[in-house]
Amino acid sequence: MSKPATYRGRFAPSPTGPLHAGSLVAALASYLDAKAHDGKWLIRIEDVDTPRCIADMDIVILQQLADVGLIPDEPPVYQSQRSHLYQAALDQLIDNKQVFPCSCSRKDVAAAIAKANPNAKPKHGELVYPGTCRSGMTQTLALGAEPAWRFKTSGEVKTQIGDFVLKRADGCFTYQLAVVVDDALQGITHVVRGADLLDNTPRQIALQHALDYPTPQYLHTPLVMAADGEKLSKQNGAEALDTSNPLKTLNMAAKALNLSEQNGSVSEALSHWTSQWQLKRAQLN
Ligand code: GLU
Repeated sequence: MSKPATYRGRFAPSPTGPLHAGSLVAALASYLDAKAHDGKWLIRIEDVDTPRCIADMDIVILQQLADVGLIPDEPPVYQSQRSHLYQAALDQLIDNKQVFPCSCSRKDVAAAIAKANPNAKPKHGELVYPGTCRSGMTQTLALGAEPAWRFKTSGEVKTQIGDFVLKRADGCFTYQLAVVVDDALQGITHVVRGADLLDNTPRQIALQHALDYPTPQYLHTPLVMAADGEKLSKQNGAEALDTSNPLKTLNMAAKALNLSEQNGSVSEALSHWTSQWQLKRAQLN
């Protein structure tokens, strides 16, 4: 019998803003899950979408995590330094005809959808790609312009999401491709992240199958809501995490995970929650 893979978990923030109270819940849960399994906990800086990243935000985030005692077991990995790996995966998908080049702009996609079904509503805030370029690009690209590359989906992912983009026309690899390649190449066995990312999981599993990668176990943590009932997110201006009182900050995140309040040192609190974790984990999905 082969030895089970050693647990490797990760927290994967995008440096588009500082961590907020909601991001700490996901970070803490992924940390505790790794520690409770005697595993390794890694940090990956997801700076693949360069236009959206803020300079030096990685340093701010790593400091926020360090302030509350969340120290990774290996040096952080940066997606901006791994484009060659994403290109290799895309090349593999091109060779296997699992992707196709696409010349549609967002506007073209919206127009094709409206034409096919005037009552169509975007799902998950995204447009379900109607398959325009699946059997060949429908427009000639301007001289020097590159196509986007889309993944040929099937089944429910096709009807719910459509053929999603892996590499954009501006040359940026997308989060979906980068996260799947990185989770596989970093040997990630367990992904613990916020429920706001739940919609992405079926896409990522489909890509793992296409690339012949193993599928990690997924666990999603509850979202923290702001007083107005909106989910906390960088997009709607959630406040940066205040780490001036690390234990207080950790206790707030722990509460969202149903863990009991701790009064000792940060490291005592973390080890206490690690031992409570198995029980609490069962309440998540
Ligand atoms: N980088 C993503 C984010 O900050 C998280 C990716 C993941 O955990 O899969 O929302």
